[in-house]
Amino acid sequence: QAKAAGRNTICFFQPEMQEAVTARSALEADLRSAIGNHELLLFFQPVVNEQSRLTGAEVLLRWQHPVRGMVMPGEFIPLAEQTGLILPVGNWVLETACEQLVRWGAQPATRELTLAVNVSARQFRQVDFVATVLGVLERTGARPDRLKIELTESLLLSDVEDIIGKMTALKAHGVGFSLDDFGTGYSSLSYLKRLPLDQLKIDQSFVRDVLTDPNDAAIVRTILALAESLDLAVVAEGVETAGQLDFLRRSGCRAFQGYYFSRPAPVEAMMAGIGAAGGVVPAMAG
Ligand code: C2E
Ligand code: MG
Ligand code: MG
Ligand code: MG
Repeated sequence: QAKAAGRNTICFFQPEMQEAVTARSALEADLRSAIGNHELLLFFQPVVNEQSRLTGAEVLLRWQHPVRGMVMPGEFIPLAEQTGLILPVGNWVLETACEQLVRWGAQPATRELTLAVNVSARQFRQVDFVATVLGVLERTGARPDRLKIELTESLLLSDVEDIIGKMTALKAHGVGFSLDDFGTGYSSLSYLKRLPLDQLKIDQSFVRDVLTDPNDAAIVRTILALAESLDLAVVAEGVETAGQLDFLRRSGCRAFQGYYFSRPAPVEAMMAGIGAAGGVVPAMAG
């Protein structure tokens, strides 16, 4: 702003700037106590196969703030990353997700379900990340091969050898890895070849207009072809309509996630809708 005003001008510190700083530090202070106050909760969104059968879910963090109401991850994850609070928050998510895996593991109808957890780059970069995950798995008794870790391409800005080492160590225990929001970030094809990934998640921005934008349709087909040749599974994110689902199926995609099946919800609500249909996730109206 000061630059845009040109030379010989002084940029005064505006009152709004002070307000923004104050609001941010208030949110930071609140986030600091959110875990202890039991204000964090996990929502679950189904992942389904070609037959619309539930194969697992992704856990999505929510913050039930006493005054602000439900705060979405887009509003506090970046702050958590900047302040380092993502470390205790991320551990809480991992632990709580694994506890759910244990509950599912105890019932024949749900024992094969997988759970995907988003891990931010800052969390993954911790030297003790592998030990932390293995510790949580051991403490909770969750099956490592039911846990999937979702990483984003922003992680690839750091030391790739280190990333490969950590992934390999966890994969040796059965933990799976997905590359989230694929196609929106920094990954080059050479990284894709080297990383011991199991799955790509097609970003919802490509799925949104897949029926009307030929470029998006081409990108989706290309990701599916690439995944096929690299022997990676694919999940399409952000499926909202029968038309999008139909296109994706015809293009060879075999796993889906999106509002068409279910919005993220507390686990009881998610399972209630599915139990009634015997494992098939009913499409929502619209
Ligand atoms: P993501 O991992 O790519 O998760 C998918 C996001 O798309 C979720 O937003 C989900 O609610 C939303 N979504 C799902 N289906 C549809 C659909 O059909 N249409 C549209 N328009 N959106 C759909 P949410 O829950 O707000 O999370 C946003 C992002 O926050 C996540 O993107 C993830 O990057 C991050 N996040 C969420 N939970 C955690 C967490 O526990 N730890 C970390 N590090 N990041 C998290
Ligand atoms: Mg994700
Ligand atoms: Mg995503
Ligand atoms: Mg995203």
